[in-house]
Amino acid sequence: MRKTIIAGNWKMYKTIKEAIELANGLKRELFKLKELSVEVVLCPPFTALAEVSEVIGDSGIQLGAQDVYWEKEGAFTGEVSCSMLLDAGCKYVIVGHSERRQYFHETNETVNKKVKAALACGLLPIMCVGETLAEREKGLTFKVLDDHVQNGLKDIGADDVTSVVIAYEPVWAIGTGKTATKEQAEDAQKYIRDLLAKMYNRETADELRIQYGGSVKPENAFDLVAQPDIDGALVGGASLRADSFSEIIRKASEVVK
Ligand code: PEP
Repeated sequence: MRKTIIAGNWKMYKTIKEAIELANGLKRELFKLKELSVEVVLCPPFTALAEVSEVIGDSGIQLGAQDVYWEKEGAFTGEVSCSMLLDAGCKYVIVGHSERRQYFHETNETVNKKVKAALACGLLPIMCVGETLAEREKGLTFKVLDDHVQNGLKDIGADDVTSVVIAYEPVWAIGTGKTATKEQAEDAQKYIRDLLAKMYNRETADELRIQYGGSVKPENAFDLVAQPDIDGALVGGASLRADSFSEIIRKASEVVK
């Protein structure tokens, strides 16, 4: 059984004070749900990790970071290591988000180094993959997914790979309000799972969680998460408010798989 995972990527939003307010607001909303049947992860900016960790405490909500560097320590100005993230209370780390690929020259090779470093120190990577609009229009979606998934997971064995969460995020749907239809999302996610079955084996592929990301909102969350190969959502914009994010979590909890 794959546990549905709903993660909020706060990107470069929220001061420490605002982050504390949002985490508290969310905790209040989720408390009303009594028992969380889905895993909830908050990914604030680095500066607010420790404070958000304190707020969520033992509520069952998990903490994640938005990026990491693969070296253990050293003269790497501006970077943050896996052990620093663990120290701040993180369980998860987003790796290879399309904004990092687009603006910060992230490549499959650096994504792979980050995924390996995270796994080696006990952090669970959320590895983002997905095609741009131009790639989709040229019929290259599956080719891009082959490239991102195979190279991002290069040299990672079947035992370790089940700790990875893959986030399928079509770039054209991120922050644009254009959600992939549930059929488009399921089609890509089933393709990823079948690819994982070829790379590893069916059992491993069936264990791995694959989220969808790209303009997920309370209105579309149920239909997306109800798809057989969609095991949750990576949410950007709608995770910045306690009411919309908790509503997405509520909708996802209603999906019984
Ligand atoms: C994201 O940042 O990963 C994302 C999916 O953003 P949004 O939900 O705003 O499209």
